[in-house]
Amino acid sequence: MKYSYVSHLYCPKCSETYSTDAEHHLCRCGSPLLVQYDLDSLKHHLKKEQLQARNPDLWRYHELLPVQDEQYKVTLGEGMSPLLPMPELGEDMNIPKLHMKDEGTIPTGSFKARGAAVGVSKAKELGVGELAMPTNGNAGAAWSLYAARASIGSTIVMPIDAPKITRNECAVSGANLYLVNGLISDAGKIVARAVERDNLYDVSTLKEPYRIEGKKTMGIEIAEQLGWEVPDVILYPTGGGVGLIGIHKALKELQALGWIDENRMPRLVAVQSEGCAPIVEAWRKGDREAPFWENSSTVAFGINVPKALGDFLVLDALYDTDGCAIAVSEDALLEEQKTAASLEGTFVCPEGAAAFSAARTLRNKGWIQESDRVVVLNTGAGIKYPDTVQIDVPTLQPHENLYDTKENEHATN
Ligand SMILES: *Cc1c(COP(=O)(O)O)cnc(C)c1O
Ligand SMILES: [Zn+2]
Repeated sequence: MKYSYVSHLYCPKCSETYSTDAEHHLCRCGSPLLVQYDLDSLKHHLKKEQLQARNPDLWRYHELLPVQDEQYKVTLGEGMSPLLPMPELGEDMNIPKLHMKDEGTIPTGSFKARGAAVGVSKAKELGVGELAMPTNGNAGAAWSLYAARASIGSTIVMPIDAPKITRNECAVSGANLYLVNGLISDAGKIVARAVERDNLYDVSTLKEPYRIEGKKTMGIEIAEQLGWEVPDVILYPTGGGVGLIGIHKALKELQALGWIDENRMPRLVAVQSEGCAPIVEAWRKGDREAPFWENSSTVAFGINVPKALGDFLVLDALYDTDGCAIAVSEDALLEEQKTAASLEGTFVCPEGAAAFSAARTLRNKGWIQESDRVVVLNTGAGIKYPDTVQIDVPTLQPHENLYDTKENEHATN
């Protein structure tokens, strides 16, 4: 039996096809490329029950991944993150069947590890020597660490405002790291010039077709963890939208395989920050592409993407599933981060907090119903963003007792 049932690359805009045996980035028409599998054949060779005996990582779905020879697999143990019930937070927002898919437990501290594991493995199979990418932080961290694992070099360019820990992750991996006094779009232009001049392998978001394949495993896992059923709603903090495109693609593939009900799709929700909400603006107007968002800014750095190359694929996924797009305020997402931690003990990243906050709003509006089974993606670990929590704790002198300072405060108030 084959390790991968990958068939070819195709363009979702003009339908042109390409081979997966050579390096490809964008289609001639400028669109990102997607990976096609031979699902008819796979359907006859693999039963979903056979997966049960496999390791709990994303490579358990290797037939649905693009790496053809297992020897090129580059792994740090990513995948099969917990799908946690959130009963207290669910009660607080009146969504009894609230679940969190927790990507905070994944190597490198964010779900970007999934895209990096599969993308770097495929790069290794293609014989790549050095990759390059612009990043808002987490992707650069993941790709440079996985590249190190694969003995591939990496050049990473990130905005000077990106979370500092992600710089350290890149630097410690030995990457050629550069900061740019600007946004990820500026970093993108610098990388594009370097790729041209130095012949580097461009792994910018969606300029490389295999990252989606890694991220789609979130969708497969959700289905498998729910006993091959899909939830009613999935909320996803959306920047470039790769995860949302991937989850949608995964569920379509599972339908084609007959592993899940072909008539049931979860409503997919793209969550953004009010400080950067191009997909929300496009969805409200019913547009098929999103505008460039000027002067974007949000503490949820992973979703600070003013223009996504795959915007049309994100919007397609929303329209196709009767989903929606919604923006939350900075205050609301920071408040939700505290609520999730204090009620459930889950220190989610600000992007994940935005998605919880969106669930709360959509429940209040009646778009989510009380009976709905709802899965929120927490895309990373809260501990990667120490600055989102502002604290004021009492400091004791060694001779003081607990509560002394607090009582003093009360006395003076
Ligand atoms: C990159 C990132 C996102 C957005 O992911 P896309 O799939 O590109 O939309 C969300 N959360 C975190 C923590 C991220 O690092
Ligand atoms: Zn095309």
